[in-house]
Amino acid sequence: MHQEQPVITHLINGQPVDGGSRSADVFNPATGKVGEQVRLADRATVESAIAAAQAAFPAWRNTPPLKRARVMSRFKELLEQHADTICRLITDEHGKVLADSLGELQRGIENVEYASYAPELLKGEHSRNVGPGIDAWSEFQALGVCAGITPFNFPAMVPLWMWPMAVACGNTFILKPSERDPSSTLFIAQLAQDAGLPPGVLNVVNGDKEAVDTLLTDPRVQAISFVGSTPVAEYIYSTGTKHGKRVQALGGAKNHAVVMPDADIDNAVTALMGAAFGSCGERCMAIPLVVAVGDATADAVREKLVAEMARMKIGSGREAGCDMGPLVTKAHLDKVRGYVDQGVEEGAELVVDGRSLTVAGHEAGYFLGPCLFDRVTPGMRIYEEEIFGPVLGIVRVDSLQAAMAMIDAHEYGNGTCIFTRDGETARHFTDHILVGMVGVNVPLPVPVAYHSFGGWKRSLFGDLNAYGPDAVRFYTRRKQITQRWPSAGVREGAVFSFPSSK
Ligand code: NAD
Repeated sequence: MHQEQPVITHLINGQPVDGGSRSADVFNPATGKVGEQVRLADRATVESAIAAAQAAFPAWRNTPPLKRARVMSRFKELLEQHADTICRLITDEHGKVLADSLGELQRGIENVEYASYAPELLKGEHSRNVGPGIDAWSEFQALGVCAGITPFNFPAMVPLWMWPMAVACGNTFILKPSERDPSSTLFIAQLAQDAGLPPGVLNVVNGDKEAVDTLLTDPRVQAISFVGSTPVAEYIYSTGTKHGKRVQALGGAKNHAVVMPDADIDNAVTALMGAAFGSCGERCMAIPLVVAVGDATADAVREKLVAEMARMKIGSGREAGCDMGPLVTKAHLDKVRGYVDQGVEEGAELVVDGRSLTVAGHEAGYFLGPCLFDRVTPGMRIYEEEIFGPVLGIVRVDSLQAAMAMIDAHEYGNGTCIFTRDGETARHFTDHILVGMVGVNVPLPVPVAYHSFGGWKRSLFGDLNAYGPDAVRFYTRRKQITQRWPSAGVREGAVFSFPSSK
């Protein structure tokens, strides 16, 4: 029997609103206990949020960009002031360690900072005298109501990739966070109201497929930003575009790190440890595969990884000094554990087995120790599929060419990196590899807020990347204006040839 749990509701038109008859449990993954319930919005509740966003649009669109930007600057200050609370909310529902929660919040804040440059970013383009006495310019106009659907693994950062820039550009927004860890997202949205965002400009509806499908099909929604798994991303892209919307849908990943024989192996292994096991591997830029060029490289990497993995401290994300917390839910723990079993069955060599880990005092938490496979090969499910857990596989190849061919043949193309001391090798790799974000001796090449983020192949559906300059383009539409003020008394005759500057 359930105890009475606090219920997380929605934020519509600046007010907390309860709507929908279904709810879901929100767990603390370190304890395995239900912390709260989250209400799952029904169609009518989402429609009321869309109506609120639609009503708020005309005034917000006409608010000077500088005033919109000032709200973002105040919001950034509030995020900094409330960082401890936000990080605790992230850790208690996601499981990641507090320092990692702070890292994602900081990356989110950088996007708010970039959105506060909106007046500069929206200046448009102007050309005088494109013809005699004729001037032409481009404006970047707001679209209207935009929506964002976000994953569990970055409940603070990924929403902040989306709505701050959308609203700074003059749009209004509806955010549908992950139902697995919605509290920090909602808390942050409330801070934006406190910073002076008018009611209805940002609305949050908690929910699942019913809420998402309402956003995808309602004709008042102009644009959809999505981040999550590839099957859902593909569904969002096809359904949203079929309903006439602009869609950017970022999906899953399987990122390979190439280690060349000339690499600084100590440095590469330290970098790989954080990239593979940080956030329990639940990052779309995590490194779950090391492609070692040459057996000597593979042996050296393996030996050092085993030593480093033995030193890792695993426990509640709230505990100081922990490197890794639990996985997000029991279902996800079972799925990741199932992949480890599968890898053994498929014939990969399980060098470090984290399956028997228990954390004292947290026996019901969703913990899995770090796992290391060697001799992983294409065709194995642990090679092909996104595991999204603390499972690292070593793939052995005999040349850079073989490593690159393997990466290029993989269905995902989100991130990759190469460890080498040779500039020519690095340049060849960055120039030719079929992946959207590439690191050279940098394991997690996540672009900063003033660049844009996005993968290739089945890691992104759509044309424009998330945040940065691409977000300004995604959340605005270009309007071209060509203008002439004829001098008094000068009248031209009709012109039947196509206008050109002869
Ligand atoms: P998910 O696809 O299960 O859920 C993402 C969002 O979609 C959630 O808000 C969820 O409620 C909604 N959703 C889920 N199923 C749906 C359905 N059938 N119809 C409509 N909406 C649905 O993803 P997740 O497990 O929350 O997040 C992990 C995934 O996100 C991983 O695959 C990871 O690689 C990916 N991710 C990608 C990026 C990137 O930038 N490419 C960043 C972070 C996470």
